[in-house]
Amino acid sequence: MSDLIKTPKILNSKECLALSPKCNSQKIKTRTAHVGDNITIRRALPQGNRKTIGAWCFLDHFGPIDLTNTEGLRVGPHPHIGLQTFTYPLAGEILHRDSLGSKQKIQPGQVNLMTAGKGISHSEESLPDTLLHGVQLWIALPDSVRHMEPNFIHYETIPSLNLANLRINILAGEFLNSLSPVKVYSPLVALELIALEDTTTTLSLNPKFEYGILPLIGTIEIAQEIVDIDTLLYLPFGRPSTPVRIQQGSRILIIGGEPFQEDILIWWNFVARTKEEMIEAANAWNKHTAFGEVKGYPGKELVPPPLL
Ligand code: MN
Repeated sequence: MSDLIKTPKILNSKECLALSPKCNSQKIKTRTAHVGDNITIRRALPQGNRKTIGAWCFLDHFGPIDLTNTEGLRVGPHPHIGLQTFTYPLAGEILHRDSLGSKQKIQPGQVNLMTAGKGISHSEESLPDTLLHGVQLWIALPDSVRHMEPNFIHYETIPSLNLANLRINILAGEFLNSLSPVKVYSPLVALELIALEDTTTTLSLNPKFEYGILPLIGTIEIAQEIVDIDTLLYLPFGRPSTPVRIQQGSRILIIGGEPFQEDILIWWNFVARTKEEMIEAANAWNKHTAFGEVKGYPGKELVPPPLL
């Protein structure tokens, strides 16, 4: 995906640090954003009052949207630096192409992980007549690896386990000794909870992690808060567990990680440390001096907005 806001400001993660464990929680309303030409999505991160949760620095929840007889999702070639994109569909299929020559269809239950490192470009398009529902997140790369060579990995299957009447998919990191194969560079986790029946249970947490909870279908009651589909609930680090109550059929995304210690800047499709790096990356994309070429995408590439 790509940030299509016409005149985005550079966002600085320093503006909102991790909350103290003394705070119970923070409710963050998702905001409306657009991807491709015609698709409206919910953007949970970054927000004015919350830029990062662990190394997670961007969270788009798209759909469910019926794309029958529409152009579908069309995100033309665009560049990334300094981050990993993490794509997880619940319904529908998306075709990914990138400047490394990858051409990969992703289906529900699978993960696409693209590590931009020093620079990559990609496009994304839904396959015809699909009902589309899913999430795409970005993970900020730590300074020690953010200039690495880019790569792309498609994960066909993701580990899962059953807890009470919950099915838990371990999308990234580790949960109850189940380890996701998804290659990340910071201590973090991403889980999907699917309630097979109405469930009340206790969820174990890593006390070193701060967390974000976002319903994808239905609602969840967690940490004495009822959280709906338009809300990201932020929990500060310091908890070993939390009670949860989930209704049958609900699907809940939980992300977490150790509070990211580096100040990062987020602008358009870039995560960097200085404005100069942003300008350099935007110029390189405009002049085609970096980021390679995405072959086969039937449409135009994206143009960066003016950098304010
Ligand atoms: Mn993208």
